[in-house]
Amino acid sequence: MKISILGCTGSIGESTLEVVRKSKGFIKIASLAAHSNAEKLSRHASEFGVSKTVLTSQTKNPEALEELATDPEIKTVVMAIVGFAALKPTIAALKAGKTVALANKEALVTCGELLTALAEKHGGKIIPVDSEHNALFQALQGHSIEQVDKLIITGSGGPFRGKTRSELQSVTIAQALNHPKWKMGPKITIDSATLMNKGLEYIEARWVFGLPDDKLKILIHPQSLVHGIVQFIDGSMLAHLSPPDMKAAISYALYYPQRQPGAVEPLDLVKAQKLEFFEVDYENFPCVNLAQKALKKGGVAPTVLNAANETAVQAFLDEKISFLSISDMIEKTLESAPRQNLDIQSIFAADAWARQKCQENILSLRH
Ligand code: NAD
Ligand code: MG
Repeated sequence: MKISILGCTGSIGESTLEVVRKSKGFIKIASLAAHSNAEKLSRHASEFGVSKTVLTSQTKNPEALEELATDPEIKTVVMAIVGFAALKPTIAALKAGKTVALANKEALVTCGELLTALAEKHGGKIIPVDSEHNALFQALQGHSIEQVDKLIITGSGGPFRGKTRSELQSVTIAQALNHPKWKMGPKITIDSATLMNKGLEYIEARWVFGLPDDKLKILIHPQSLVHGIVQFIDGSMLAHLSPPDMKAAISYALYYPQRQPGAVEPLDLVKAQKLEFFEVDYENFPCVNLAQKALKKGGVAPTVLNAANETAVQAFLDEKISFLSISDMIEKTLESAPRQNLDIQSIFAADAWARQKCQENILSLRH
């Protein structure tokens, strides 16, 4: 099987390379793309004998990622790019009837309704790699969606679980980047500290599984061993457990409907000892609610939420705003968002508008 890995130098990209290494030649890589780390990209290309590579920060071809994503040679695209930048190549891949092993969540958050329609129209397929959605996808095998009462996604609660807003006032970048369970790229790690990651995943679940939001639920599960639970109409629940290692989800997505032997070490349940579940602390972590509201509002509201979040998280990482200002900036940007219909052009326009508006909000905060 031949694949393309877009975003091969990141956390998901490199976990995908490990799954490929273990496949003993079953999975072959046709092409690799990354944003700016030329040295790492060429190291990966030479290890896997890949001749087609794209470094997006340097290429003069604006369609370069779309070309890799639609290459007739490949069956599957692993979408490991972070942020809204994944949207165009995801659209191209689905239009070309490819299977997209989709780790990126921002494309589904902004454009989920249109992406699932495109996949259906052109025979493309989205296989969720985000661990919670991959877990639900696994637990749903052999069941029809009509038998589902609720889909439950779990989250560890991040490094600040149990803290109040006043305690969060002065948290540092290093503290926010110190996730207790998962090792991930910086943007999603900050999203996990604000809990925006769960908000984005809630929207993502809406489109991956096509269920209305009253059937979606988030639970905090600090041990990060249960990733998703399907609650059926008869009261039964099927949960998916694995170590917090993205290779479990990536491997399932690439081998589906088969399984890769030994993809990850199975859990030692005796050692794990306890599995706890709590309600989300909406009061101290307002980002979840902002995301749920944006989904309810519909149209381009999730796009505005996502763009404001990307902008605010970057400003936090650049030491321009405090941790608590991230949610404030998103809320303020969402408040002034124009109502627009949902089509691809409006999504790109709303994304650009929200990035600029959020920057203005950040600047006005500092003066
Ligand atoms: P990362 O920052 O470690 O890596 C991002 C990759 O995207 C890099 O290869 C980078 O070169 C590339 N990239 C960045 N900006 C780009 C641009 N403008 N154009 C093209 N390529 C660009 O991020 P990550 O943690 O691997 O996350 C990737 C995606 O997967 C995110 O959307 C994240 O939410 C999602 N995800 C990650 C994890 C995880 O465990 N890391 C889990 C679930 C979902
Ligand atoms: Mg996740």
